[in-house]
Amino acid sequence: MKIHEYQARDLLVKFGIPVPDALVVETADQAKEAYEKLAAQGTPLVVVKAQVHAGGRGKGGGVKLVKSADEAGEVAKAILSKPLVTHQTGPEGVEVKKLMVAAGVEIEKEYYLGMAVDRATASPLLIASSEGGVEIEQVAASNPEAILREPIDPAMGLQGYQARKVAYKLGLKGKQVNQAVKVMQQVAKMFIDTDASLAEINPLIVTPASEEYPDGQVLAIDAKINFDDNALYRQKDIAQMADPAEEDASELRAKEFDLTYIKLDGSIGCLVNGAGLAMATMDLVKLHGQEPANFLDVGGSATEEAIAEAFRIILDDPNVKGVLVNIFGGIMQCDRIARAIVSAAQNVGFEVPLVVRLEGTNVDAARKILDEAKDAIPAMVVGTDLTDAAQKIAAAVAAA
Ligand code: GDP
Ligand code: MG
Repeated sequence: MKIHEYQARDLLVKFGIPVPDALVVETADQAKEAYEKLAAQGTPLVVVKAQVHAGGRGKGGGVKLVKSADEAGEVAKAILSKPLVTHQTGPEGVEVKKLMVAAGVEIEKEYYLGMAVDRATASPLLIASSEGGVEIEQVAASNPEAILREPIDPAMGLQGYQARKVAYKLGLKGKQVNQAVKVMQQVAKMFIDTDASLAEINPLIVTPASEEYPDGQVLAIDAKINFDDNALYRQKDIAQMADPAEEDASELRAKEFDLTYIKLDGSIGCLVNGAGLAMATMDLVKLHGQEPANFLDVGGSATEEAIAEAFRIILDDPNVKGVLVNIFGGIMQCDRIARAIVSAAQNVGFEVPLVVRLEGTNVDAARKILDEAKDAIPAMVVGTDLTDAAQKIAAAVAAA
């Protein structure tokens, strides 16, 4: 699950990580008011930031520095009036409904600070770089040694000596070191305590020296946090931060029926039970020259109603040029799938080719149901095994 920057900022505050003041607004007039409030307390520099789940907002025109209330209003109006396109949104972009208006800060240097789960060490991993800012992906590709990695013992958290080592390697000096150590330890704690799957502060900055901070202040001025969906049952506060407007509508529908559905870009809709079989099915679709339109695992206990909904979700996708059903009935009974196919054919209709491969529990009953319905579902062909089914659907779609 993803959250907005302003929500991530709230979490940083909760964990004692220093951030600039900020307000959330939804209109240009509110942005002007927010400017007045922030400028009255600080400097005339304020930043207006689009709140969308995608990253790369700065380069896409979704982060603008302003120096007057009027300018804040104009910039807010411009950002709210059209979809924001970044390298993470696709060419159609995403609608911007909220803005965060934050006190602008002067930047001496930008750093990158992140947390992820590292499969290699099977532990949370702190990631840091002195080359932070909007080009971090390029740094990782062209200059990987500029990225520091520090594995964390999940029971112990990030230890002081580890954080100090990273701070020195980043080139931090004087009083910056202890500030950064605290930020790193708190980010690591937040990551573990909230069951996050990714947390990025990019940039983490050091401000120019001031009276209060003779070596500059370490501040988090952007935050992106994703959470493990499977942990949301025990993270009620986090689960509440979900924004359905930012989610894919079909993925939300699937979630309501307890289906695991992920939309992809290809043309073959796949309805499968079990994640492993779903992966194998997608591999075979690709092997035979086509691309899957989705990953859909109906699991073992889906009701006929949920499976019928699964067909509806697949068939609603205009990219779908053919459907492949691949079920190995273990707990799932093949006849339940067969009845759902018949019901989907009656209620939605298969206008695209459908290839069905069923094996396992109650397969004979299932074949009988499909055989009796075959005149009503002319688009349906039966596959004898997975290869045969994948070949048949790939050929049917290629010929269409
Ligand atoms: P992102 O592009 O979605 O990662 O959005 P960010 O919040 O990281 O903003 C992009 C860039 O804008 C940052 O890397 C900074 O260089 C710049 N920026 C953001 N806020 C401020 C600010 O308060 N002051 C200054 N000088 N630059 C800022
Ligand atoms: Mg950023």
